Amino acid sequence: MSIRYLREILTGSRNIVCLQGRASWSKQGNDFYRKDFIYDTEMKYGLSPDEIFSTTFYHNRPAKFFEFYREEMLKKRGEPGPVNYILKEMEDDGRLSAIVTRGYFNASKRAGCKNVIQLHGDIDRNTCPRCGKVFSAEYILEHKPIPKCDVCETMIHPGVVLSGEMLDSAVMTRAAEAISCADVLLVIGCNLSSRLGSMARYFNGDKIALVNVEEHYTDRKADCVCIGDSIENILREAYPAKKEQN
Ligand SMILES: [Zn+2]
Repeated sequence: MSIRYLREILTGSRNIVCLQGRASWSKQGNDFYRKDFIYDTEMKYGLSPDEIFSTTFYHNRPAKFFEFYREEMLKKRGEPGPVNYILKEMEDDGRLSAIVTRGYFNASKRAGCKNVIQLHGDIDRNTCPRCGKVFSAEYILEHKPIPKCDVCETMIHPGVVLSGEMLDSAVMTRAAEAISCADVLLVIGCNLSSRLGSMARYFNGDKIALVNVEEHYTDRKADCVCIGDSIENILREAYPAKKEQN
C-alpha cells in the first residue's frame, strides 16, 4: 500500500475519472447484494430484491412493486458520506472530470458533484413511458399506491433500471468515452473484474489507482493499489483537505 504514491497520482492529474464501486456507497441506500437486506426483503415480501425490482413484477403487481420502491429504496436512500465529499473537492479543484457508478441513490450528486454518470439510473428521474415527463422521488412517495403521470395518466417507470432491462446505451457510451479520455482512472470500492471495474478496459491513459476494502488477484493490473478497511480514510490521507495541503 502506497498512500504517498496515490497522493502523487491524484494531485498530479487534471483529468481523473473515478469508477465508484459498491463498497464505497453501500452505506448510502439499500444495497441489493447485502445479505441482511436480501434476508429482510425475503422475510417481508416473500421474494428477493432482484425478483421484486424486475420488469415482470412491475407490470404484474405494480402496487406491491411501488410499495417496495418507496419503503426500501426511496425512504432509505441515506445521506452523502465523506467519500462523496472528497470526490466533490477533487472536482472543485479541477482534478476529477467524471464519476461513473452503478449507484442510483445520487449520493455524489447530492454532495454537489456535477458530472456523475449513473449507469443504473437515478431515483430522482422517474419517467412517464408515454410522454417522457420526469418525476422526482418525492412525487413517487406522495402518489400512492401506483404513481401515474399527471399529464397522461400512464403508470410511471422508476428512474432505476429494473432487472430484466438493458442499461441505457447512451449512458454507457458517455461513460466509456469519459474513461477513454482520462489520464488517471481512480477505481474505488470494487475490483477490476467486477462489472464496474471491468470498464477499465476503455482506459487509454497513464495510471490506474485502486482503493478497495479487500485484495483481489486482478489488483496487479493497477499501477497503485491501496487496500484498507476504510476507503474514506485512504482517500482523505491521499487527498488532504485544502487547509492541510497549504
Ligand atoms: Zn405522461
